[in-house]
Amino acid sequence: MQADAYRFDGSRPCDLSRLPTDAGSEKGKKEEYAAKTAANLRRMEALQDALYADGREGLIILLQALDAAGKDGTIKHVMGGLNPQGVTVYNFKQPTKTELQHDYLWRVGQCLPPRGGIAIFNRSYYEDVLVVQLHQLHKTYRMADRVLTDSDEAFFEKRYRQIRHFEEYLYENSFRVLKIFLHLSKEEQKKRFLDRIDTPEKNWKFTPDDLRERARFDEYNRLYSRVISATATEHAPWFALPADQKWYTRYLASEVVVEALQKCAPSYPALDEKTRAEMQRARIRLMAEDESR
Ligand code: AMP
Ligand code: MG
Repeated sequence: MQADAYRFDGSRPCDLSRLPTDAGSEKGKKEEYAAKTAANLRRMEALQDALYADGREGLIILLQALDAAGKDGTIKHVMGGLNPQGVTVYNFKQPTKTELQHDYLWRVGQCLPPRGGIAIFNRSYYEDVLVVQLHQLHKTYRMADRVLTDSDEAFFEKRYRQIRHFEEYLYENSFRVLKIFLHLSKEEQKKRFLDRIDTPEKNWKFTPDDLRERARFDEYNRLYSRVISATATEHAPWFALPADQKWYTRYLASEVVVEALQKCAPSYPALDEKTRAEMQRARIRLMAEDESR
């Protein structure tokens, strides 16, 4: 599939500075891609139905990106194709005081889907190696000296390992994790911020803090490259999708979601002989109702 060009599964390191943020040679094919996305949404719906009925695997789709890269839009326009029964969206904001008293995966445990279900994470536990690392927030947490006397590098290397193990644990318990990074250019972020400032309906999406993070745009991308490289595995791959054209991002996102659902191998549960015979008897009884009316 087209999104394979952006797949990271541990077989190669990720260097975002060498990856496109735009649609490249596909630019100008907006209509064509919109139609292809619509077709994928229909496939997603059918696959999700089967996943729900099958109930053997659960799927976690997580989205990470810098501000204005299109996380909310992707959830609305791509995941919006899913049946709300069987999907829950979780937004990971700054941890509360109670959350900070626990390990960083504690709040995640409460958001995991049942088998047959899908959880969408708008940001995730990856914030705990991204914003936390960049702003050195871990140094403000109350934790034992033995934890904090580690060098920063060692501290976060341990977290990468914990995250790999956590995702492997989920995989070994019949869940899959699909990780999407929306790769936006600094110029496009500026345009979208200006639009958020100039359009009253979009004002709520902008906070002056966003500029503080933007000032560290390149640092963030370098850190994302490291985090993606350290946590990409075959069973829990990352996709670093170009995000400058929303219609292109949405198409690629729909592709990777379809693929993940297919991998969950959803097939409608097959009936055993006894149940099939019972169903047939039920059928006969239902048909008999008409006749006796
Ligand atoms: P938004 O997604 O724009 O609503 O903002 C949510 C904010 O919460 C972002 O600035 C995230 O970086 C921040 N956030 C999410 N998780 C964490 C975390 N574990 N530690 C610190 N900040 C976080
Ligand atoms: Mg924000």
